[in-house]
Amino acid sequence: MSKILDEYLTENLQELKDNGLYNEINVVEGANGPEITIEGEKMINLSSNNYLGLATDETLKTVAKEAIDSHGVGAGAVRTINGTLDLHVELENKLAEFKGTEAAVAFQSGFNCNMAAIQAVMNKEDAILSDELNHASIIDGCRLSRAKIIRVNHSDMDDLRKKAKEAVESGLYKKVMYITDGVFSMDGDVALLPEIVEIAKEFDLITYVDDAHGSGVMGKGAGTVKHFGLQNDIDLQMGTLSKAIGVVGGYVAGSQDLIDYLKVAARPFLFSTSLTPGDTRAITEAVQMLMDSTELHDRLWENGDYLKKGLKELGFDIGNSETPITPCIIGDEKTTQQFSSRLMEEGVYAKSIVFPTVPKGTGRVRNMPTAAHTKEMLDEALRIYEKVGRELNVIS
Ligand SMILES: *Cc1c(COP(=O)(O)O)cnc(C)c1O
Repeated sequence: MSKILDEYLTENLQELKDNGLYNEINVVEGANGPEITIEGEKMINLSSNNYLGLATDETLKTVAKEAIDSHGVGAGAVRTINGTLDLHVELENKLAEFKGTEAAVAFQSGFNCNMAAIQAVMNKEDAILSDELNHASIIDGCRLSRAKIIRVNHSDMDDLRKKAKEAVESGLYKKVMYITDGVFSMDGDVALLPEIVEIAKEFDLITYVDDAHGSGVMGKGAGTVKHFGLQNDIDLQMGTLSKAIGVVGGYVAGSQDLIDYLKVAARPFLFSTSLTPGDTRAITEAVQMLMDSTELHDRLWENGDYLKKGLKELGFDIGNSETPITPCIIGDEKTTQQFSSRLMEEGVYAKSIVFPTVPKGTGRVRNMPTAAHTKEMLDEALRIYEKVGRELNVIS
């Protein structure tokens, strides 16, 4: 090994460990469901993004196996060479129908979508206004475009209007985009899309919504943009197929011209092999299930409301979430981490999230209830929360 690399790795790993920032990754033994097993211990899982429980759905498993039988395990090439299978076209037509747009294009992951679409549309002569709490993949996608990045205070519409006006009137930029998460994953709050659209119209901003946590959850399943009925006003709707949809992959939905352009200009589309047949077929089926019935969506919200109500009644601070994402704000970083470890010992798997992911002093344990949790599981989780909460003097 290179000596310089060796020193670099040793130093960095040591520094992370010294500062308590080195993350030991737990291995889940078996499927990622409402209950999971880690080191032989069964726990109630409140940490997944598997909102609708589709990751282990029997129908999806069956159609994925059938697609492997008919189409094989891999797509064989990038989309533009000969990796565009009939299954991909079916999926993209279904996604466009689901999102209420003219067209859609699928990518290998949500992260890849943000690498692909921002860079394809924006370049160094442009500016991007970006909510300060946007996801890491948005930040990286913006950097890759080489556009000027202008941070906007979180969901602050006065700040957005002011910075949009400055950017447009400066005459320095050819195009200006506003990019935001649809649902913010740490607090569960929802982007103020009607106000955003109004400001975008005033200044001719390009609008881009990353709905990774909104798809399957908001708008009766169809996402945050549809929740507000703004399908014709948001230019790029991006989402992931790995959270509520339960599989893997991502998509961008929008006008036919936008999608045609992404298929010739988006680098992860051009240079990375497409989704596997099994995944693609399972995703199409999952989207169809969401279009046919809101049963899973309704159960997710019911469970989210139940958990929130229970934690609140116990005296916990659950923030201002507008979605099933349920933060339980503990405060200082050390107590938060201790709280999460004690929950785990007692049988609840809910991860602590601390600075720098969230502001100092707002450390939290984040709970992600799903449609697959039973009331008994949630009651048991609440019982454990009460026990650990009293023990660590978080509640009285
Ligand atoms: C999870 C997430 C992504 C990445 O999606 P993957 O499909 O897991 O790559 C992108 N944006 C946001 C806001 C996310 O929460």
